Amino acid sequence: MEDLYGRVVTYLRVSVTDRCNLRCRYCMPLDGVRFKDLDDVLTWEELERVVRIAASLGVRRIRVTGGEPTTRPGLVDFVRAVAQTPGVEDVSMTTNGMLFADLAADLRDAGLRRVNISLDSLRAERFRSLTHFGDWDAVWRSVRAALALGLHPVKLNCVALRGVNDDELADFVALTLDQPLHVRFIELMPLGTSHPWARDKLMPLADMRQRIAERYELEAASVDGGGPASCFRVPGGAGSVGFITAMTENFCHNCNRVRLTADGELQPCLGSLLALDLRGPLRAGVSDDGLRRLIAKGIRSKPERHLMEEYLEETAGRRMWTVGG
Ligand code: SAM
Ligand code: SF4
Repeated sequence: MEDLYGRVVTYLRVSVTDRCNLRCRYCMPLDGVRFKDLDDVLTWEELERVVRIAASLGVRRIRVTGGEPTTRPGLVDFVRAVAQTPGVEDVSMTTNGMLFADLAADLRDAGLRRVNISLDSLRAERFRSLTHFGDWDAVWRSVRAALALGLHPVKLNCVALRGVNDDELADFVALTLDQPLHVRFIELMPLGTSHPWARDKLMPLADMRQRIAERYELEAASVDGGGPASCFRVPGGAGSVGFITAMTENFCHNCNRVRLTADGELQPCLGSLLALDLRGPLRAGVSDDGLRRLIAKGIRSKPERHLMEEYLEETAGRRMWTVGG
Protein backbone atom coordinates (compact mmCIF):
# COMPACT_ATOMS: atom_id res chain seq x y z
CA MET A 1 0.00 0.00 0.00
CA GLU A 2 0.96 3.64 -0.43
CA ASP A 3 2.05 5.90 2.37
CA LEU A 4 1.18 9.60 2.63
CA TYR A 5 4.10 10.54 0.39
CA GLY A 6 3.25 8.23 -2.50
CA ARG A 7 5.84 5.59 -1.57
CA VAL A 8 4.59 2.05 -2.04
CA VAL A 9 5.50 -0.10 0.96
CA THR A 10 6.28 -3.62 -0.22
CA TYR A 11 9.00 -4.63 2.20
CA LEU A 12 8.84 -5.74 5.84
CA ARG A 13 11.91 -6.42 7.94
CA VAL A 14 11.12 -8.79 10.77
CA SER A 15 13.41 -8.90 13.77
CA VAL A 16 12.89 -12.35 15.26
CA THR A 17 15.03 -11.84 18.35
CA ASP A 18 16.91 -9.06 20.11
CA ARG A 19 19.57 -11.54 21.29
CA CYS A 20 22.93 -11.81 19.60
CA ASN A 21 26.05 -13.95 19.86
CA LEU A 22 28.32 -11.00 18.94
CA ARG A 23 28.81 -7.54 20.38
CA CYS A 24 29.81 -5.33 17.45
CA ARG A 25 31.32 -2.20 18.90
CA TYR A 26 29.03 0.17 17.04
CA CYS A 27 25.89 -1.84 17.79
CA MET A 28 25.66 -3.54 21.17
CA PRO A 29 27.46 -2.79 24.43
CA LEU A 30 29.51 -5.61 25.91
CA ASP A 31 27.85 -5.39 29.32
CA GLY A 32 24.56 -4.30 30.68
CA VAL A 33 22.34 -5.08 27.71
CA ARG A 34 18.79 -5.61 28.91
CA PHE A 35 17.14 -8.01 26.55
CA LYS A 36 13.38 -8.26 26.25
CA ASP A 37 11.69 -10.81 28.47
CA LEU A 38 11.13 -13.89 26.35
CA ASP A 39 7.42 -13.63 27.13
CA ASP A 40 7.39 -10.24 25.44
CA VAL A 41 8.98 -11.53 22.25
CA LEU A 42 6.38 -12.46 19.64
CA THR A 43 5.90 -16.19 19.16
CA TRP A 44 6.58 -17.62 15.71
CA GLU A 45 2.81 -17.89 15.23
CA GLU A 46 2.33 -14.22 16.06
CA LEU A 47 5.13 -13.20 13.71
CA GLU A 48 3.62 -15.36 10.95
CA ARG A 49 0.26 -13.71 11.47
CA VAL A 50 1.70 -10.22 11.14
CA VAL A 51 3.50 -11.31 7.96
CA ARG A 52 0.28 -12.76 6.54
CA ILE A 53 -1.71 -9.61 7.19
CA ALA A 54 1.10 -7.37 5.93
CA ALA A 55 1.18 -9.45 2.74
CA SER A 56 -2.56 -8.84 2.31
CA LEU A 57 -1.69 -5.12 2.30
CA GLY A 58 0.82 -5.52 -0.51
CA VAL A 59 4.04 -6.47 1.29
CA ARG A 60 5.94 -8.74 -1.10
CA ARG A 61 9.39 -9.02 0.41
CA ILE A 62 10.31 -10.16 3.91
CA ARG A 63 13.77 -9.85 5.43
CA VAL A 64 14.39 -11.88 8.56
CA THR A 65 16.82 -10.13 10.88
CA GLY A 66 17.54 -9.42 14.53
CA GLY A 67 19.55 -9.39 16.83
CA GLU A 68 20.99 -12.51 15.34
CA PRO A 69 18.19 -14.52 13.73
CA THR A 70 20.16 -17.76 13.67
CA THR A 71 20.27 -17.84 17.46
CA ARG A 72 16.51 -18.43 17.74
CA PRO A 73 15.45 -22.08 17.55
CA GLY A 74 12.70 -22.71 15.01
CA LEU A 75 14.04 -20.30 12.40
CA VAL A 76 13.88 -22.75 9.50
CA ASP A 77 10.19 -23.50 10.06
CA PHE A 78 9.46 -19.79 10.29
CA VAL A 79 11.20 -19.13 7.00
CA ARG A 80 9.18 -21.96 5.42
CA ALA A 81 5.93 -20.50 6.72
CA VAL A 82 6.84 -17.02 5.50
CA ALA A 83 7.88 -18.30 2.07
CA GLN A 84 4.52 -20.07 1.73
CA THR A 85 2.49 -17.01 2.75
CA PRO A 86 0.22 -15.91 -0.10
CA GLY A 87 1.59 -12.72 -1.63
CA VAL A 88 5.15 -13.12 -0.30
CA GLU A 89 7.50 -13.32 -3.28
CA ASP A 90 10.89 -13.02 -1.67
CA VAL A 91 12.40 -14.08 1.66
CA SER A 92 15.87 -12.91 2.64
CA MET A 93 17.92 -12.75 5.80
CA THR A 94 20.56 -10.57 7.42
CA THR A 95 22.96 -12.54 9.61
CA ASN A 96 26.36 -12.17 11.19
CA GLY A 97 27.26 -15.53 9.67
CA MET A 98 28.52 -17.15 12.86
CA LEU A 99 25.93 -19.96 12.76
CA PHE A 100 24.53 -19.58 9.26
CA ALA A 101 26.70 -22.17 7.47
CA ASP A 102 25.12 -25.12 9.29
CA LEU A 103 21.59 -23.85 8.68
CA ALA A 104 22.10 -22.65 5.13
CA ALA A 105 20.92 -25.73 3.23
CA ASP A 106 17.79 -26.12 5.36
CA LEU A 107 17.03 -22.42 5.04
CA ARG A 108 17.45 -22.55 1.28
CA ASP A 109 15.16 -25.60 1.10
CA ALA A 110 12.64 -23.75 3.27
CA GLY A 111 12.52 -20.90 0.75
CA LEU A 112 15.30 -18.47 1.66
CA ARG A 113 16.29 -16.80 -1.59
CA ARG A 114 19.18 -14.58 -0.65
CA VAL A 115 21.29 -13.51 2.27
CA ASN A 116 23.23 -10.53 3.56
CA ILE A 117 26.17 -11.49 5.74
CA SER A 118 27.68 -8.77 7.87
CA LEU A 119 31.44 -8.64 7.81
CA ASP A 120 33.43 -5.55 8.68
CA SER A 121 36.94 -6.89 8.32
CA LEU A 122 38.80 -9.49 6.30
CA ARG A 123 41.42 -9.80 9.03
CA ALA A 124 40.57 -12.36 11.68
CA GLU A 125 42.16 -10.47 14.57
CA ARG A 126 40.58 -7.18 13.66
CA PHE A 127 37.22 -8.86 13.15
CA ARG A 128 37.45 -10.40 16.60
CA SER A 129 38.30 -7.07 18.14
CA LEU A 130 35.40 -5.33 16.38
CA THR A 131 32.84 -7.95 17.36
CA HIS A 132 34.36 -9.21 20.64
CA PHE A 133 33.46 -12.85 19.95
CA GLY A 134 33.54 -13.10 16.17
CA ASP A 135 35.18 -16.08 14.48
CA TRP A 136 36.20 -14.95 11.01
CA ASP A 137 36.57 -18.50 9.68
CA ALA A 138 33.04 -19.37 10.75
CA VAL A 139 31.66 -16.33 8.95
CA TRP A 140 33.65 -17.09 5.83
CA ARG A 141 32.32 -20.65 5.89
CA SER A 142 28.85 -19.13 5.78
CA VAL A 143 29.77 -16.97 2.81
CA ARG A 144 31.11 -20.05 0.97
CA ALA A 145 28.01 -22.08 1.90
CA ALA A 146 25.67 -19.36 0.64
CA LEU A 147 27.52 -19.17 -2.67
CA ALA A 148 27.69 -22.95 -3.03
CA LEU A 149 23.93 -23.27 -2.43
CA GLY A 150 23.17 -20.73 -5.12
CA LEU A 151 21.59 -18.11 -2.87
CA HIS A 152 21.50 -14.97 -4.96
CA PRO A 153 22.58 -12.36 -4.47
CA VAL A 154 24.98 -13.03 -1.58
CA LYS A 155 25.75 -9.63 -0.12
CA LEU A 156 28.46 -8.69 2.34
CA ASN A 157 27.43 -5.81 4.60
CA CYS A 158 30.46 -3.83 5.67
CA VAL A 159 30.08 -0.79 7.90
CA ALA A 160 32.90 1.54 6.88
CA LEU A 161 34.69 2.90 9.94
CA ARG A 162 37.27 5.62 9.69
CA GLY A 163 40.58 4.61 11.19
CA VAL A 164 39.30 1.08 11.82
CA ASN A 165 38.68 -0.72 8.53
CA ASP A 166 39.00 2.00 5.89
CA ASP A 167 42.32 0.51 4.82
CA GLU A 168 40.39 -2.63 3.76
CA LEU A 169 37.69 -1.15 1.54
CA ALA A 170 39.61 -1.93 -1.63
CA ASP A 171 40.28 -5.48 -0.35
CA PHE A 172 36.52 -5.95 -0.05
CA VAL A 173 36.12 -4.67 -3.60
CA ALA A 174 38.76 -7.19 -4.72
CA LEU A 175 36.45 -10.00 -3.55
CA THR A 176 33.92 -8.96 -6.21
CA LEU A 177 36.33 -9.41 -9.10
CA ASP A 178 35.97 -13.15 -9.58
CA GLN A 179 33.16 -14.13 -7.19
CA PRO A 180 29.48 -13.20 -7.39
CA LEU A 181 29.72 -11.32 -4.11
CA HIS A 182 27.93 -8.03 -3.65
CA VAL A 183 29.67 -5.83 -1.15
CA ARG A 184 27.60 -3.11 0.48
CA PHE A 185 29.50 -0.41 2.30
CA ILE A 186 27.28 1.13 4.93
CA GLU A 187 27.67 4.55 6.48
CA LEU A 188 27.68 4.34 10.23
CA MET A 189 24.40 5.60 11.67
CA PRO A 190 23.97 7.23 15.07
CA LEU A 191 22.17 4.25 16.57
CA GLY A 192 22.96 1.79 19.34
CA THR A 193 26.44 2.09 20.75
CA SER A 194 27.72 4.02 17.77
CA HIS A 195 27.72 6.80 20.37
CA PRO A 196 30.26 7.42 21.78
CA TRP A 197 32.66 4.77 20.47
CA ALA A 198 31.99 5.60 16.87
CA ARG A 199 31.35 9.32 17.10
CA ASP A 200 34.28 10.16 14.80
CA LYS A 201 34.20 7.03 12.67
CA LEU A 202 31.52 7.85 10.10
CA MET A 203 33.01 7.66 6.61
CA PRO A 204 30.91 9.68 4.19
CA LEU A 205 30.36 8.27 0.72
CA ALA A 206 32.90 10.61 -0.88
CA ASP A 207 35.66 9.34 1.45
CA MET A 208 34.78 5.70 0.79
CA ARG A 209 34.87 6.31 -2.95
CA GLN A 210 38.22 8.00 -2.62
CA ARG A 211 39.78 5.12 -0.68
CA ILE A 212 38.52 2.63 -3.26
CA ALA A 213 39.63 4.79 -6.20
CA GLU A 214 43.22 4.40 -5.00
CA ARG A 215 42.99 0.85 -6.41
CA TYR A 216 39.83 0.40 -8.47
CA GLU A 217 37.70 2.33 -10.88
CA LEU A 218 33.99 1.60 -10.56
CA GLU A 219 31.27 1.74 -13.20
CA ALA A 220 27.47 1.85 -12.68
CA ALA A 221 25.73 -1.54 -12.35
CA SER A 222 22.41 -2.97 -11.19
CA VAL A 223 21.69 -5.98 -8.97
CA ASP A 224 18.51 -7.90 -8.00
CA GLY A 225 17.10 -6.68 -4.72
CA GLY A 226 19.43 -3.71 -4.91
CA GLY A 227 17.61 -1.90 -2.08
CA PRO A 228 18.76 1.56 -1.11
CA ALA A 229 22.34 1.01 -2.26
CA SER A 230 23.72 2.88 -5.22
CA CYS A 231 25.33 0.15 -7.22
CA PHE A 232 28.64 -0.19 -9.10
CA ARG A 233 31.13 -2.79 -10.22
CA VAL A 234 34.72 -3.06 -11.28
CA PRO A 235 34.51 -3.41 -15.08
CA GLY A 236 34.31 -7.14 -15.85
CA GLY A 237 33.86 -8.04 -12.18
CA ALA A 238 31.60 -10.95 -11.18
CA GLY A 239 30.05 -9.13 -8.24
CA SER A 240 29.15 -5.57 -7.38
CA VAL A 241 29.90 -2.77 -4.96
CA GLY A 242 27.19 -0.63 -3.38
CA PHE A 243 26.98 2.19 -0.90
CA ILE A 244 24.22 2.67 1.65
CA THR A 245 24.43 6.30 2.56
CA ALA A 246 21.69 7.11 5.03
CA MET A 247 23.74 9.95 6.47
CA THR A 248 25.17 11.83 3.52
CA GLU A 249 22.96 10.93 0.55
CA ASN A 250 19.45 10.60 1.88
CA PHE A 251 17.33 7.98 0.10
CA CYS A 252 14.12 8.39 2.12
CA HIS A 253 12.10 9.38 -0.97
CA ASN A 254 12.61 5.82 -2.26
CA CYS A 255 12.01 4.05 1.06
CA ASN A 256 9.63 1.10 0.65
CA ARG A 257 9.95 -0.60 4.03
CA VAL A 258 8.67 -0.85 7.57
CA ARG A 259 10.08 -2.86 10.45
CA LEU A 260 8.68 -5.18 13.07
CA THR A 261 10.66 -5.53 16.29
CA ALA A 262 10.94 -8.86 18.06
CA ASP A 263 8.54 -7.64 20.75
CA GLY A 264 5.94 -6.59 18.27
CA GLU A 265 6.41 -2.89 17.56
CA LEU A 266 5.78 -1.81 14.02
CA GLN A 267 8.35 0.86 13.29
CA PRO A 268 7.75 2.90 10.16
CA CYS A 269 11.24 4.45 10.02
CA LEU A 270 14.62 3.39 11.37
CA GLY A 271 15.62 6.97 12.02
CA SER A 272 12.62 8.20 13.97
CA LEU A 273 11.17 7.11 17.26
CA LEU A 274 7.70 6.34 15.90
CA ALA A 275 6.39 2.91 16.88
CA LEU A 276 3.04 1.19 16.95
CA ASP A 277 2.41 -1.64 19.39
CA LEU A 278 1.02 -4.76 17.74
CA ARG A 279 1.74 -7.20 20.57
CA GLY A 280 -0.94 -5.80 22.89
CA PRO A 281 -3.71 -6.07 20.28
CA LEU A 282 -2.39 -9.47 19.10
CA ARG A 283 -2.62 -10.84 22.61
CA ALA A 284 -5.95 -9.16 23.25
CA GLY A 285 -7.49 -11.12 20.39
CA VAL A 286 -7.52 -8.52 17.62
CA SER A 287 -9.31 -9.69 14.46
CA ASP A 288 -7.51 -9.96 11.12
CA ASP A 289 -9.31 -6.83 9.95
CA GLY A 290 -8.31 -4.99 13.09
CA LEU A 291 -4.70 -6.03 12.66
CA ARG A 292 -4.83 -4.99 9.00
CA ARG A 293 -6.08 -1.55 10.02
CA LEU A 294 -3.27 -1.21 12.57
CA ILE A 295 -0.56 -2.17 10.10
CA ALA A 296 -2.06 0.19 7.53
CA LYS A 297 -1.96 2.95 10.14
CA GLY A 298 1.72 2.18 10.78
CA ILE A 299 2.47 2.39 7.07
CA ARG A 300 0.59 5.67 6.75
CA SER A 301 2.61 7.10 9.63
CA LYS A 302 5.92 6.75 7.77
CA PRO A 303 7.61 10.12 8.10
CA GLU A 304 8.80 11.89 4.98
CA ARG A 305 12.42 11.46 6.02
CA HIS A 306 14.53 10.21 8.89
CA LEU A 307 15.78 12.54 11.58
CA MET A 308 19.14 10.96 12.24
CA GLU A 309 21.12 14.12 11.50
CA GLU A 310 18.78 16.40 13.44
CA TYR A 311 18.12 14.32 16.53
CA LEU A 312 21.34 12.45 17.10
CA GLU A 313 20.90 11.94 20.81
CA GLU A 314 17.31 10.75 20.49
CA THR A 315 17.83 8.31 17.67
CA ALA A 316 21.01 7.07 19.32
CA GLY A 317 18.66 5.59 21.90
CA ARG A 318 17.33 3.34 19.18
CA ARG A 319 19.00 0.03 19.39
CA MET A 320 19.72 -1.50 16.03
CA TRP A 321 19.70 -5.01 17.48
CA THR A 322 16.08 -4.57 18.60
CA VAL A 323 14.88 -2.70 15.56
CA GLY A 324 16.49 -5.07 13.09
CA GLY A 325 19.01 -3.67 10.63
N1 SAM B 1 22.94 -9.63 13.59
C1 SAM B 1 22.69 -9.55 12.19
C2 SAM B 1 23.87 -8.95 11.46
O1 SAM B 1 24.73 -8.36 12.10
O2 SAM B 1 23.90 -9.07 10.25
C3 SAM B 1 21.43 -8.80 11.83
C4 SAM B 1 21.10 -7.56 12.63
S1 SAM B 1 22.27 -6.23 12.46
C5 SAM B 1 21.54 -5.03 13.52
C6 SAM B 1 21.96 -5.71 10.80
C7 SAM B 1 22.97 -4.78 10.19
O3 SAM B 1 22.95 -3.55 10.87
C8 SAM B 1 24.40 -5.28 10.22
O4 SAM B 1 24.91 -5.33 8.91
C9 SAM B 1 25.12 -4.23 11.02
O5 SAM B 1 26.43 -4.03 10.58
C10 SAM B 1 24.25 -3.01 10.82
N2 SAM B 1 24.40 -2.02 11.87
C11 SAM B 1 24.26 -2.17 13.20
N3 SAM B 1 24.45 -0.99 13.84
C12 SAM B 1 24.71 -0.07 12.88
C13 SAM B 1 24.99 1.33 12.90
N4 SAM B 1 25.06 2.03 14.03
N5 SAM B 1 25.20 1.95 11.71
C14 SAM B 1 25.14 1.26 10.54
N6 SAM B 1 24.87 -0.06 10.46
C15 SAM B 1 24.67 -0.72 11.62
FE1 SF4 C 1 24.82 -8.55 16.75
FE2 SF4 C 1 24.35 -7.80 14.25
FE3 SF4 C 1 24.47 -5.97 16.25
FE4 SF4 C 1 26.68 -7.19 15.47
S1 SF4 C 1 25.42 -5.84 14.21
S2 SF4 C 1 26.02 -6.90 17.62
S3 SF4 C 1 26.00 -9.19 14.94
S4 SF4 C 1 22.96 -7.53 16.02
